[in-house]
Amino acid sequence: MRLSLTDKCNLRCTYCMPAEGLEWLSKQAVMTGEEIVRIVGIGVHLLGVRELRLTGGEPLVRADLVDIIGALRQAHPELPISMTTNGVGLDRKATALKAAGLTRINVSLDSLHEETFTKLTRRPFLDRVLAGVDAAWAAGLGPVKLNAVLMRGINDTESPSLLAWALERGYELRFIEQMPLDADHGWTRRNMITAAEIRELLSGEFVLSPDPRARDGAPAERFEVRRRTASSGDPHGPVLGTVGIIASVTEPFCSDCRRTRITAEGKIMSCLFSREEFDLLGLLRQGASDEQLAERWQDAMWLKPKAHGMDHVGLDAPDFVQPDRSMSAIGG
Ligand code: SF4
Repeated sequence: MRLSLTDKCNLRCTYCMPAEGLEWLSKQAVMTGEEIVRIVGIGVHLLGVRELRLTGGEPLVRADLVDIIGALRQAHPELPISMTTNGVGLDRKATALKAAGLTRINVSLDSLHEETFTKLTRRPFLDRVLAGVDAAWAAGLGPVKLNAVLMRGINDTESPSLLAWALERGYELRFIEQMPLDADHGWTRRNMITAAEIRELLSGEFVLSPDPRARDGAPAERFEVRRRTASSGDPHGPVLGTVGIIASVTEPFCSDCRRTRITAEGKIMSCLFSREEFDLLGLLRQGASDEQLAERWQDAMWLKPKAHGMDHVGLDAPDFVQPDRSMSAIGG
């Protein structure tokens, strides 16, 4: 289960939202902490939810974040609770998040170069993000995973050095194909860096071999990483760590997808790219029982599409209708 805590964000990533930001949801429209705990409870007790990921917008901008995680942990002592964040402000909150019961964290980090980072996020916050990553590690929110979206001609060629940096620090880096979920609808298949190109970009310095561990429905295809050396024909060189590639567009994993999403205003989305949403929060506020809410949720998930169909999109043929909702309003 992925639950978005807010649509607001303190970055303006070019592959997500316009420089001026978006019209944010009103406070009234967004789920309260109590409503979030109730909805997660219905998911866990009535619908078989076994894992929870908190997303945004940017979850760290929500003032009651630590309280929400504390209440969720109290209600579900064994539930793995992870969070995806852009890391801005994480250095100040990592310890409290861990103490409240957060299990582990994914931090978005598209570049280690100040200029490139600022170009991609439209904010000069690289040092704050790096401080957040280190604080997450120090707080024990590991394994710390890093998410990097590669953009052609901007940070794509930086991918080998980004991987080397992550491996040296024991972070698990995942490269993500840019998805057509930007509010500007500027995404093109031609401009996107594909998984095949990512493997090619890394192959100059590294040898990637399939991670023997089961993928088990995880979005990332994982590889064991060895340094490519003159004699790298020797497959037994030391494994430096792992890298993941999330190829939602060109190598989709829809047949294995078990994700259900709840947006910040309590809408059920059966797929990241579905254009159908089902209102759960409205029904909850009308006084529906947990069983009635579970039924609405189940009905919505029965309509989960078999596949998003993007992998058949030609390089320029826009025969894929991009959803109206942008990444920041879904939460990934
Ligand atoms: S929601 Fe995520 S991708 Fe979008 S601007 Fe914020 S940090 Fe960037």
